[in-house]
Amino acid sequence: MNATISVNGHISDAAHAVVPVFDHGFLFGEGVYETLRTYHGVPFLFDRHMRRLRQSAGLMALPVPFSDADLLADIRKTMAAHTGGLQEAYIRILLTRGVGDLSYNPTACPTPTVVIIIKPFLAHPERTFTEGIRLSLVSIRRNHPLALNPMIKSNNLLNNALAMQEAIRSEAEEALMRNQNGDLVECSQSNFFLVRDGAVLTPPLAAGLLPGITRELVMELADELGVPARDERLTPDDLRTADEAFITGTTREVTPVFRIDDLIIGNGAPGPISMRLLTAFRARADELSVRRDKV
Ligand code: PMP
Repeated sequence: MNATISVNGHISDAAHAVVPVFDHGFLFGEGVYETLRTYHGVPFLFDRHMRRLRQSAGLMALPVPFSDADLLADIRKTMAAHTGGLQEAYIRILLTRGVGDLSYNPTACPTPTVVIIIKPFLAHPERTFTEGIRLSLVSIRRNHPLALNPMIKSNNLLNNALAMQEAIRSEAEEALMRNQNGDLVECSQSNFFLVRDGAVLTPPLAAGLLPGITRELVMELADELGVPARDERLTPDDLRTADEAFITGTTREVTPVFRIDDLIIGNGAPGPISMRLLTAFRARADELSVRRDKV
Protein backbone atom coordinates (compact mmCIF):
# COMPACT_ATOMS: atom_id res chain seq x y z
CA MET A 1 0.00 0.00 0.00
CA ASN A 2 1.45 3.35 -1.06
CA ALA A 3 0.49 5.15 2.14
CA THR A 4 2.12 7.06 4.97
CA ILE A 5 0.53 6.81 8.40
CA SER A 6 0.79 8.71 11.63
CA VAL A 7 -0.30 6.76 14.72
CA ASN A 8 -0.31 9.10 17.71
CA GLY A 9 2.42 11.11 16.00
CA HIS A 10 4.62 8.14 15.03
CA ILE A 11 4.99 8.24 11.26
CA SER A 12 5.66 5.10 9.23
CA ASP A 13 4.68 3.32 6.05
CA ALA A 14 1.51 1.22 5.98
CA ALA A 15 3.27 -2.05 6.81
CA HIS A 16 4.69 -0.64 10.05
CA ALA A 17 1.66 1.33 11.23
CA VAL A 18 0.04 -0.57 14.08
CA VAL A 19 -2.81 -0.06 16.51
CA PRO A 20 -3.06 -2.42 19.50
CA VAL A 21 -5.74 -5.13 19.47
CA PHE A 22 -7.17 -3.70 22.69
CA ASP A 23 -7.93 -0.40 21.01
CA HIS A 24 -11.69 0.02 21.27
CA GLY A 25 -11.72 1.25 17.68
CA PHE A 26 -10.78 -2.32 16.73
CA LEU A 27 -12.70 -4.15 19.45
CA PHE A 28 -15.98 -2.22 19.22
CA GLY A 29 -15.74 0.09 16.20
CA GLU A 30 -15.74 2.91 18.75
CA GLY A 31 -14.33 5.85 16.91
CA VAL A 32 -15.00 8.57 14.37
CA TYR A 33 -13.30 9.60 11.17
CA GLU A 34 -13.12 12.16 8.41
CA THR A 35 -12.05 11.81 4.80
CA LEU A 36 -10.56 14.84 3.10
CA ARG A 37 -8.72 15.40 -0.12
CA THR A 38 -6.39 18.12 -1.32
CA TYR A 39 -6.78 20.45 -4.26
CA HIS A 40 -3.46 22.05 -5.26
CA GLY A 41 -1.93 20.34 -2.23
CA VAL A 42 -4.25 22.06 0.25
CA PRO A 43 -6.67 20.01 2.41
CA PHE A 44 -10.08 21.12 1.15
CA LEU A 45 -12.64 22.58 3.57
CA PHE A 46 -10.48 21.59 6.54
CA ASP A 47 -12.43 23.79 8.99
CA ARG A 48 -15.76 22.23 8.01
CA HIS A 49 -14.36 18.72 8.38
CA MET A 50 -13.01 19.59 11.83
CA ARG A 51 -16.38 20.98 12.87
CA ARG A 52 -18.04 17.71 11.84
CA LEU A 53 -15.35 15.57 13.51
CA ARG A 54 -16.00 17.41 16.79
CA GLN A 55 -19.74 16.98 16.38
CA SER A 56 -19.36 13.23 15.68
CA ALA A 57 -17.05 12.78 18.65
CA GLY A 58 -19.42 14.76 20.89
CA LEU A 59 -22.31 12.46 19.98
CA MET A 60 -20.38 9.51 21.39
CA ALA A 61 -18.78 11.38 24.31
CA LEU A 62 -15.32 10.97 22.83
CA PRO A 63 -12.81 13.67 23.77
CA VAL A 64 -10.93 15.29 20.88
CA PRO A 65 -7.34 15.55 22.12
CA PHE A 66 -6.05 18.14 19.62
CA SER A 67 -6.73 21.63 18.34
CA ASP A 68 -7.49 22.11 14.65
CA ALA A 69 -4.08 23.76 14.25
CA ASP A 70 -2.30 20.81 15.93
CA LEU A 71 -4.03 18.33 13.67
CA LEU A 72 -3.31 20.37 10.54
CA ALA A 73 0.36 20.51 11.52
CA ASP A 74 0.39 16.71 11.93
CA ILE A 75 -1.33 16.26 8.56
CA ARG A 76 1.32 18.47 6.95
CA LYS A 77 4.10 16.48 8.62
CA THR A 78 2.64 13.17 7.46
CA MET A 79 2.18 14.50 3.92
CA ALA A 80 5.76 15.76 3.91
CA ALA A 81 6.97 12.30 5.00
CA HIS A 82 5.22 10.61 2.07
CA THR A 83 7.83 9.61 -0.47
CA GLY A 84 5.65 7.63 -2.87
CA GLY A 85 4.58 10.62 -5.00
CA LEU A 86 1.70 12.88 -4.03
CA GLN A 87 0.06 14.88 -6.81
CA GLU A 88 -3.02 15.27 -4.64
CA ALA A 89 -3.54 13.56 -1.29
CA TYR A 90 -6.30 11.43 0.16
CA ILE A 91 -6.40 12.16 3.89
CA ARG A 92 -8.20 10.02 6.44
CA ILE A 93 -8.29 11.03 10.07
CA LEU A 94 -9.36 8.44 12.61
CA LEU A 95 -9.98 9.09 16.27
CA THR A 96 -10.79 6.10 18.46
CA ARG A 97 -11.60 5.61 22.12
CA GLY A 98 -8.08 4.21 22.55
CA VAL A 99 -6.62 1.22 24.32
CA GLY A 100 -8.37 -0.23 27.36
CA ASP A 101 -9.79 -3.31 29.02
CA LEU A 102 -12.76 -5.19 27.57
CA SER A 103 -15.40 -2.86 28.91
CA TYR A 104 -17.90 -0.42 27.45
CA ASN A 105 -17.10 2.00 30.25
CA PRO A 106 -15.37 4.95 28.56
CA THR A 107 -13.16 5.39 31.61
CA ALA A 108 -11.47 2.10 30.61
CA CYS A 109 -9.66 4.09 27.88
CA PRO A 110 -7.81 7.11 29.21
CA THR A 111 -6.14 8.14 25.92
CA PRO A 112 -7.79 8.35 22.49
CA THR A 113 -5.87 7.08 19.48
CA VAL A 114 -5.27 9.45 16.57
CA VAL A 115 -4.42 8.04 13.14
CA ILE A 116 -3.73 10.02 9.97
CA ILE A 117 -3.59 8.08 6.70
CA ILE A 118 -2.08 9.82 3.68
CA LYS A 119 -2.10 8.27 0.24
CA PRO A 120 -2.19 9.54 -3.30
CA PHE A 121 -5.66 10.73 -4.23
CA LEU A 122 -6.94 8.65 -7.13
CA ALA A 123 -9.90 10.35 -8.74
CA HIS A 124 -12.85 8.31 -9.90
CA PRO A 125 -12.70 7.70 -13.68
CA GLU A 126 -13.63 10.75 -15.74
CA ARG A 127 -16.46 8.78 -17.37
CA THR A 128 -18.27 8.77 -14.00
CA PHE A 129 -18.53 12.56 -14.37
CA THR A 130 -19.15 12.77 -18.11
CA GLU A 131 -21.54 9.83 -18.44
CA GLY A 132 -22.78 9.42 -14.88
CA ILE A 133 -23.08 6.31 -12.75
CA ARG A 134 -25.67 3.72 -11.92
CA LEU A 135 -27.09 3.32 -8.42
CA SER A 136 -29.02 0.49 -6.88
CA LEU A 137 -31.81 1.05 -4.37
CA VAL A 138 -30.78 -1.54 -1.81
CA SER A 139 -32.83 -3.45 0.75
CA ILE A 140 -30.48 -2.63 3.66
CA ARG A 141 -31.96 0.31 5.55
CA ARG A 142 -29.85 3.14 6.91
CA ASN A 143 -29.27 2.89 10.65
CA HIS A 144 -32.20 4.27 12.61
CA PRO A 145 -31.03 7.53 14.24
CA LEU A 146 -32.23 6.25 17.61
CA ALA A 147 -30.12 3.10 17.20
CA LEU A 148 -26.90 4.45 15.67
CA ASN A 149 -27.22 8.03 14.52
CA PRO A 150 -25.91 8.48 10.94
CA MET A 151 -24.86 11.99 12.05
CA ILE A 152 -21.96 10.23 13.78
CA LYS A 153 -19.33 9.63 11.12
CA SER A 154 -18.40 6.44 12.87
CA ASN A 155 -15.61 3.99 12.13
CA ASN A 156 -18.29 1.36 12.52
CA LEU A 157 -19.24 1.17 8.85
CA LEU A 158 -20.98 -2.19 8.75
CA ASN A 159 -24.32 -0.67 7.74
CA ASN A 160 -22.62 1.12 4.82
CA ALA A 161 -20.52 -1.89 3.84
CA LEU A 162 -23.54 -4.23 3.75
CA ALA A 163 -25.45 -1.74 1.60
CA MET A 164 -22.54 -1.40 -0.79
CA GLN A 165 -22.08 -5.19 -1.02
CA GLU A 166 -25.67 -5.42 -2.18
CA ALA A 167 -25.12 -2.68 -4.78
CA ILE A 168 -21.99 -4.42 -6.07
CA ARG A 169 -24.00 -7.63 -6.53
CA SER A 170 -26.36 -5.57 -8.72
CA GLU A 171 -23.38 -4.17 -10.67
CA ALA A 172 -24.10 -0.65 -9.45
CA GLU A 173 -21.49 1.89 -8.39
CA GLU A 174 -23.29 3.19 -5.29
CA ALA A 175 -26.02 2.00 -2.95
CA LEU A 176 -29.03 4.26 -2.44
CA MET A 177 -30.58 3.69 0.97
CA ARG A 178 -33.94 4.30 2.63
CA ASN A 179 -34.70 4.87 6.28
CA GLN A 180 -37.04 2.82 8.43
CA ASN A 181 -40.09 4.66 6.97
CA GLY A 182 -39.03 3.85 3.42
CA ASP A 183 -38.00 7.45 2.65
CA LEU A 184 -34.84 8.03 0.65
CA VAL A 185 -31.93 9.16 2.82
CA GLU A 186 -28.44 8.86 1.35
CA CYS A 187 -25.99 6.50 -0.30
CA SER A 188 -23.40 4.25 1.35
CA GLN A 189 -20.62 6.82 0.88
CA SER A 190 -22.32 9.90 -0.50
CA ASN A 191 -25.40 12.10 -0.30
CA PHE A 192 -28.24 11.89 -2.79
CA PHE A 193 -29.96 14.63 -4.77
CA LEU A 194 -32.53 14.83 -7.50
CA VAL A 195 -33.62 17.64 -9.76
CA ARG A 196 -37.28 18.17 -10.56
CA ASP A 197 -38.82 21.09 -12.45
CA GLY A 198 -35.57 23.03 -12.15
CA ALA A 199 -35.27 22.61 -8.36
CA VAL A 200 -32.53 20.72 -6.53
CA LEU A 201 -33.96 18.46 -3.81
CA THR A 202 -32.21 16.38 -1.16
CA PRO A 203 -33.53 14.49 1.87
CA PRO A 204 -33.51 16.47 5.14
CA LEU A 205 -31.04 15.71 7.94
CA ALA A 206 -34.01 14.68 10.10
CA ALA A 207 -34.54 11.69 7.78
CA GLY A 208 -31.32 10.24 9.27
CA LEU A 209 -28.21 10.85 7.21
CA LEU A 210 -24.68 12.18 7.39
CA PRO A 211 -24.48 15.96 6.97
CA GLY A 212 -22.09 15.82 4.01
CA ILE A 213 -19.60 18.63 3.63
CA THR A 214 -20.02 18.45 -0.16
CA ARG A 215 -23.83 18.40 0.27
CA GLU A 216 -23.60 21.61 2.29
CA LEU A 217 -21.35 23.36 -0.24
CA VAL A 218 -23.48 22.23 -3.19
CA MET A 219 -26.59 23.72 -1.55
CA GLU A 220 -24.69 27.00 -1.13
CA LEU A 221 -23.49 26.91 -4.74
CA ALA A 222 -27.01 26.24 -6.03
CA ASP A 223 -28.13 29.31 -4.10
CA GLU A 224 -25.34 31.40 -5.62
CA LEU A 225 -26.27 30.18 -9.11
CA GLY A 226 -29.91 31.11 -8.52
CA VAL A 227 -31.02 27.48 -8.76
CA PRO A 228 -33.76 26.75 -6.20
CA ALA A 229 -32.46 24.17 -3.74
CA ARG A 230 -34.07 22.77 -0.60
CA ASP A 231 -34.25 19.70 1.55
CA GLU A 232 -37.47 17.81 1.21
CA ARG A 233 -38.86 14.39 2.10
CA LEU A 234 -38.24 12.10 -0.90
CA THR A 235 -39.54 8.60 -1.53
CA PRO A 236 -38.69 6.01 -4.19
CA ASP A 237 -41.75 7.25 -6.15
CA ASP A 238 -39.98 10.58 -6.61
CA LEU A 239 -37.28 8.84 -8.64
CA ARG A 240 -39.80 8.24 -11.41
CA THR A 241 -40.49 11.94 -11.89
CA ALA A 242 -36.89 13.13 -11.47
CA ASP A 243 -35.38 15.03 -14.39
CA GLU A 244 -31.86 14.51 -13.04
CA ALA A 245 -30.12 12.84 -10.12
CA PHE A 246 -26.63 13.15 -8.67
CA ILE A 247 -24.60 12.20 -5.62
CA THR A 248 -22.10 14.29 -3.68
CA GLY A 249 -19.07 13.39 -1.61
CA THR A 250 -15.49 14.39 -0.98
CA THR A 251 -14.08 11.95 -3.52
CA ARG A 252 -17.09 12.01 -5.88
CA GLU A 253 -17.52 15.81 -6.01
CA VAL A 254 -20.83 16.07 -7.91
CA THR A 255 -21.33 12.79 -9.79
CA PRO A 256 -24.35 12.52 -12.10
CA VAL A 257 -26.59 9.46 -11.87
CA PHE A 258 -28.09 8.19 -15.12
CA ARG A 259 -29.80 5.07 -13.89
CA ILE A 260 -31.14 3.56 -10.65
CA ASP A 261 -31.54 -0.21 -11.08
CA ASP A 262 -33.68 -0.46 -14.22
CA LEU A 263 -35.02 3.08 -14.04
CA ILE A 264 -33.40 5.52 -16.46
CA ILE A 265 -33.18 9.01 -14.99
CA GLY A 266 -34.10 11.88 -17.34
CA ASN A 267 -32.73 11.10 -20.77
CA GLY A 268 -30.10 8.71 -19.41
CA ALA A 269 -27.24 11.21 -19.45
CA PRO A 270 -25.94 13.82 -16.98
CA GLY A 271 -28.42 16.66 -16.71
CA PRO A 272 -27.64 20.37 -17.17
CA ILE A 273 -28.12 21.37 -13.53
CA SER A 274 -25.93 18.51 -12.30
CA MET A 275 -23.20 19.62 -14.70
CA ARG A 276 -23.50 23.28 -13.73
CA LEU A 277 -23.10 22.30 -10.08
CA LEU A 278 -20.09 20.09 -10.85
CA THR A 279 -18.43 22.94 -12.78
CA ALA A 280 -19.20 25.43 -9.99
CA PHE A 281 -17.93 22.98 -7.37
CA ARG A 282 -14.61 22.46 -9.14
CA ALA A 283 -14.19 26.18 -9.70
CA ARG A 284 -14.79 26.82 -5.99
CA ALA A 285 -12.33 24.06 -5.02
CA ASP A 286 -9.67 25.68 -7.23
CA GLU A 287 -10.43 29.14 -6.00
CA LEU A 288 -10.32 28.23 -2.30
CA SER A 289 -7.15 26.16 -2.68
CA VAL A 290 -4.87 28.33 -4.83
CA ARG A 291 -5.61 31.30 -2.57
CA ARG A 292 -3.94 29.55 0.35
CA ASP A 293 -0.37 28.58 1.06
CA LYS A 294 0.62 25.18 -0.22
CA VAL A 295 0.77 22.50 2.46
N1 PMP B 1 -22.87 9.95 3.47
C1 PMP B 1 -22.05 8.97 3.89
C2 PMP B 1 -22.65 7.79 4.57
C3 PMP B 1 -20.66 9.05 3.69
O1 PMP B 1 -19.85 8.08 4.13
C4 PMP B 1 -20.14 10.17 3.00
C5 PMP B 1 -18.67 10.26 2.72
N2 PMP B 1 -17.96 10.74 3.81
C6 PMP B 1 -21.02 11.18 2.59
C7 PMP B 1 -22.38 11.03 2.83
C8 PMP B 1 -20.52 12.41 1.89
O2 PMP B 1 -19.90 13.28 2.82
P1 PMP B 1 -18.80 14.33 2.39
O3 PMP B 1 -19.39 15.20 1.35
O4 PMP B 1 -18.52 15.07 3.66
O5 PMP B 1 -17.63 13.56 1.89
